[in-house]
Amino acid sequence: MKLYNTATRKVENFKPLGEVVKIYTCGPTVYNTAHIGNYAAYVYWDLLIRCLKLNGYKVRRVLNLTDVGHLTSDGDEGEDKLEKGAEREGKTPFEVAEYYSKIYLDDYKKLELLPADIIARATDYIKEDMEAVDLMTTNGYTYETRDGIYYDTAKFPEYADFAKLDIEGLKAGARVGFSSEKRNVSDFAVWKFIQPGEKHAMRWDYLGRPGYPGWHLECATIIHKELGDPIDIHTGGIDHIPIHHTNEIAETYAAYGTKLARFWLHCDFITVDGQKISKSLGNTYSLEDLEKRGFSALDYKMWLLSGHYQGTRNFTFESLEAAKNRRQNWREKIAACYQDTTDKSADHFSEILNAVSNNLNSAEACALIDTSNLNLEDWQKIDELFGLRLIADTPNVSEEIYNLITKRDEARKNKDFITSDKIRDELLKQDIGLNDTTSGAIWYYLN
Ligand code: AMP
Ligand code: ZN
Repeated sequence: MKLYNTATRKVENFKPLGEVVKIYTCGPTVYNTAHIGNYAAYVYWDLLIRCLKLNGYKVRRVLNLTDVGHLTSDGDEGEDKLEKGAEREGKTPFEVAEYYSKIYLDDYKKLELLPADIIARATDYIKEDMEAVDLMTTNGYTYETRDGIYYDTAKFPEYADFAKLDIEGLKAGARVGFSSEKRNVSDFAVWKFIQPGEKHAMRWDYLGRPGYPGWHLECATIIHKELGDPIDIHTGGIDHIPIHHTNEIAETYAAYGTKLARFWLHCDFITVDGQKISKSLGNTYSLEDLEKRGFSALDYKMWLLSGHYQGTRNFTFESLEAAKNRRQNWREKIAACYQDTTDKSADHFSEILNAVSNNLNSAEACALIDTSNLNLEDWQKIDELFGLRLIADTPNVSEEIYNLITKRDEARKNKDFITSDKIRDELLKQDIGLNDTTSGAIWYYLN
């Protein structure tokens, strides 16, 4: 397999260090309902895992849920997003985390994403966070200010390398009033102290004072504990490169003396109608919003897979409609395969898998699927690769029923709705339901 590696900025041959590929995915901050952009990375990393498995690799994968410490600003200022959510909803931050974790994990299932081997909640790793801060301090990487323990980035000369950060530029552009006790503009909190009178329900005693971990630390400690560094592949969104992942790398090195990851994959941001996804523009669609407009989570997954994870992708409802039609068209091809008894033994799947194995080029794989003459076995493998429930959603029916469905499609095309309704009723009696699409009806068994 070939993968683009952010660390080297090259597409490289991928080979794991050991027998099992160790993968970590930075997961969501569970303080509100995720929008469709948030799901991009999880769909593309699901494709990565499926592709590795089909290439014969064993995979061990950890996904975290951030339920503490992620502040509204990247500069160690602002409110903790979970505390903000709690205030907004009149709940405790723990209740907020529980509520949105459930929605996230339900959506995860709807998208047919393979379950991670471990789903790690940040609040379950506080002891490990404290141990890591102790180690960083012992190794001389931290200093204390009034509001927390900070990482002294000047002590890690490679700090700027990963993101090719322009530290001088950062210094010049630093806002007046950035925590004046910071020694360097890129320094960041590994632990925050809660000040007397400050509201922060999630708190743990460390160094004799209440506090909570800085956001980036959870990923470093979870990886260290659950996978062991270095891992083979670390994944996230492009926004993680300059701060979150840069800081995870620095923390891992300072605490454990190790490299964090060998390969780094980042997916680009999705825009909606040519604009950034943002509350103020009213375009923060959730999967539920799409469902209300007649699109399933898998239609959206099809939309994502129709493009490349590193491409800038613009979401519109027209393009979602096209993705929905593509998925339905593929299902119709499967339906036709059930009826087709001629021998189609050519193996087209290896070509499709090769496309995805080349830096996850799902767009090229989709184009190949559109134009190849595939057999049922190919479709089964495509389902394994994409997780689109193509076969499960397209049950095999008798030739007699298939002919009725085709006859009804024909009647609808000719606007002969009397005949089409009559056939629909006949099929209903035989427990067959229909969903009409622009490219014909999709049928399912009524239970
Ligand atoms: P959060 O739950 O706020 O931590 O967000 C999870 C991740 O979703 C972010 O870190 C980004 O990598 C990703 N993300 C946010 N907006 C978009 C977007 N418009 N397109 C793709 N990914 C996004
Ligand atoms: Zn992370």
